[in-house]
Amino acid sequence: AGSGKFFVGGNWKCNGTKDSISKLVSDLNSAKLESDVDVVVAPPFLYIDQVRSSLTDRIEICAQNCWTGKGGAFTGEISVEQLKDIGCKWVILGHSERRHVIGENDEFIGKKAAYALSQNVGVIACIGELLEEREAGKTFDVCFQQLKAFADALPSWDDVVIAYEPVWAIGTGKVATSEQAQEVHAAVRDWLSNNVSAEVASKTRIIYGGSVNGGNSADLAKKEDIDGFLVGGASLKGPEFATIINSVT
Ligand code: PEP
Repeated sequence: AGSGKFFVGGNWKCNGTKDSISKLVSDLNSAKLESDVDVVVAPPFLYIDQVRSSLTDRIEICAQNCWTGKGGAFTGEISVEQLKDIGCKWVILGHSERRHVIGENDEFIGKKAAYALSQNVGVIACIGELLEEREAGKTFDVCFQQLKAFADALPSWDDVVIAYEPVWAIGTGKVATSEQAQEVHAAVRDWLSNNVSAEVASKTRIIYGGSVNGGNSADLAKKEDIDGFLVGGASLKGPEFATIINSVT
């Protein structure tokens, strides 16, 4: 972990029912969490209101997606204004499932990120390479291109957390080694320093995602440029998510 405040997000994805979410919220409410960690959870849109009204204020609410601008005639979309209205402080953008399963491109993602920030909603900006890109030696190229798209679109890096999530590690049980993650995090910080500013490079938190669990988080958290985690599967289990949050020491 670096000098910034550790940041841990739980991405619940398209999981849960009113009952299972109520159990998860009650487990989170009774968990003992390190005070020096920012914690957010991202429930499915439908359950955000239920979660915000029952979850401790210690944990902030994040959306899993948003529309590119002000609401209106955009069937099926959710606007940033609506997210704010029900208590969301953050939104995850550029997640690999939205890039590679839904087909969102860099420009579309950048537009959403810029709009969210303009409305004072923080952005978890996700980047990461596919397995074949890593095997072809293109990890840095891919990550830097995705970063550049964010940099070109964003008015400022205040309220942005970068999530490095190698696609081959997401939901696969194949976590990156702490050395592999550290190598990319350091390169991302260098890229920010060379292409944005030294100040942004040193203050922007870079978190790791991809099969983080209660057993591997402490080792990853020791690395200098790993400033937290974005957690999928393991964030659906309250006690394990708490272990991950508390893995920064
Ligand atoms: C994610 O989707 O952001 C993620 C990291 O998932 P998992 O922890 O399940 O690999």
